[in-house]
Amino acid sequence: MNALKAGRTALAWGLVLAALACGSFAWRYPTFFAGGFELLGVALSMALTAALLATVIGLIAPAPRLAAALGLAPLCAALAVAAIALERPVVTPTWLACAALAGAGVAIALSMLRVAAKPRFLAVATALVAATAAIAHARRPPPITAADERPKVFVFGLDAGTWTILDELMAADQLPALRRLREEGASGVLRSEVESASPRVWTTIATGKVPAKHGVVDFFCTQNQDLKSRRIWEILQARQSWSVGLFQWLVTWPPDPFDPFVVPAWMARGPETHPAGLTFIKQLEIAFQNGEFEQWRKDGDWPRLLTELRNWGTGYLAHGLRWKTAAAAAAQAYVALNDPRWELQYAAKRTLQLLLNGDVYLELYRRHQPDFSCFICYGTDNLAHKFWQYHYPDDFGMPHSEAAPYARLVTDYYRACDALLAEMLPLLSPSTTVAVVSDHGFTSVGEGGESHQRELRPKMSRIASELGMTESEVVWSSIATRGYFRPTTSAAGAAALSKQIIDWLDHCDAIGGAKVFLVDAKEDGQIEVAVNNAAAFERDTPIATPTGQRLFGDLVDIEDRTGNHSTEGIVILRGPAFRRGVRIEPARLADITPTLLHLHGLAVGADMDGWPIEEAFTEEFRASHEIERTPSWDDLVEVTRQDVGSGDDSAMRSYMNATGYISDDGDAPAADKLNQPTNQLPKRSPQE
Ligand SMILES: [Zn+2]
Repeated sequence: MNALKAGRTALAWGLVLAALACGSFAWRYPTFFAGGFELLGVALSMALTAALLATVIGLIAPAPRLAAALGLAPLCAALAVAAIALERPVVTPTWLACAALAGAGVAIALSMLRVAAKPRFLAVATALVAATAAIAHARRPPPITAADERPKVFVFGLDAGTWTILDELMAADQLPALRRLREEGASGVLRSEVESASPRVWTTIATGKVPAKHGVVDFFCTQNQDLKSRRIWEILQARQSWSVGLFQWLVTWPPDPFDPFVVPAWMARGPETHPAGLTFIKQLEIAFQNGEFEQWRKDGDWPRLLTELRNWGTGYLAHGLRWKTAAAAAAQAYVALNDPRWELQYAAKRTLQLLLNGDVYLELYRRHQPDFSCFICYGTDNLAHKFWQYHYPDDFGMPHSEAAPYARLVTDYYRACDALLAEMLPLLSPSTTVAVVSDHGFTSVGEGGESHQRELRPKMSRIASELGMTESEVVWSSIATRGYFRPTTSAAGAAALSKQIIDWLDHCDAIGGAKVFLVDAKEDGQIEVAVNNAAAFERDTPIATPTGQRLFGDLVDIEDRTGNHSTEGIVILRGPAFRRGVRIEPARLADITPTLLHLHGLAVGADMDGWPIEEAFTEEFRASHEIERTPSWDDLVEVTRQDVGSGDDSAMRSYMNATGYISDDGDAPAADKLNQPTNQLPKRSPQE
């Protein structure tokens, strides 16, 4: 009886403190409870916080064990209800277990309350929840007003988006937002180029030109500086004062100061964003990419892990994270950290990023409503490379039982993209054109008949720790199969660090003398590291390094990939000027920019390789809009490309020169190859 009383008191105090905590939280982060299920969110959060606090208070009560257990019961109940709320429509064994747990928890909590026999308690609890919900409701951001009649463009990118998957999922009614857009717009195949490397291809979409003209010629030209041509948003901004909000378009690093925002894509070589307040997004991405979580956990570096978690947490909370996303993200984080299968860990990490970034983007869009904006999803490509065979096991002669646990990894990610798109659509004004595009498609047997590839990537953080270098001296990043080190100390110090890095990498050899790494010091001070593909290494090949013998697998990530890019991507165009529900002839990557220019009354550059997708426009639009041409937008629009280097790097450059490390553009593809048209389709041309 004593313990019950203690438990009850603990619960009452827990509830009061929870109301204070949740109320001030709702005040501080107004978007957290917004976006539907407001009251449910408040009630669940309060129950969780109250039960948690009750457990803690119970522990210091006169009969600690029982009292704490009594607090714990409602905590379990609240967690179980949260889990059920997340998996709402699907009744799975987990769901049933959660329901049972919730029932038990609620029963125990109720019996405690009955012992109390005080309706006053219930009344106070209800009042506290209601008051907190009222605070959350009052602080919630105002709904968007669609009164803005300015024409706008929203580009939703699905890297490697492919009709094979879309058609299958749409038929099963699993992509409602994309299906709605297809039904309300003009859609078809967007034909990509052979050897479709994402940075090149996304730049072709943005410029309407082949790589030889836009300058992003190989997979590793990933910086703004590499660009030789104007992009659609640069033209719209210069000519019609459009505001520009870019979220993860490739080759936008270092970020241009477009307003309201530019968050570069995954190939960025640093965490910079515009405005700088969004850097936390890139920092989380880089931590994922470099496997820093695993490293911190392994090293037991909990202070570092907790500090980073707090930084990301406050960053996301201040920029639109909502409770339902936080709950879904927590479920993904649990899988990412605890599931023994790396496949599920990997997919969970990608989904986690999509969920968190989706909330930030929704809030940025709601707040600023940029005239030109984009959100690009890359997990559709990453997951396809890794898990395609599990969705199409027959194409790979794989038993279905082996494929089953991973069969939904690719399609689940597509569904998550669609869910984000579904939340985007209500934010768009009626005058907004939506363009859903991919850079290429995906298929079981891809380019050159290939369906298997092996990728080798240097483990950058491992190499840094072998060298005993910390992030205060050198930053590292990875782009697909290559890694980059960039010393951040003073110029003279940087030269010494560079020498140390290069020497170490140069002296990693297998028995027989085959070099493990190919090192290339770039003129801008970055050191590029690739794995020597010419040598036949296996995971357990012993490697002699200046810091002792290691295994090849210690220093290099080995990944076997299945399926490959195909030239058949996707395009959907929906807006006031586009026909509804029509299937258009295959268009080309380079047609997107001319289409958007024409849509907004601007001339098509005569130096562009694409042409407006005329049959996608309505009859009225075509009758009243003549396609105009101008020699080149490149001469009409001034741009300043941001420089990568910061500070004076002359000492480093002279060191690099002296040691012969500075590279010329050794492996740029031959010019004739780059001038090929982006595919075999006849070019759309001005009509006579
Ligand atoms: Zn790819």
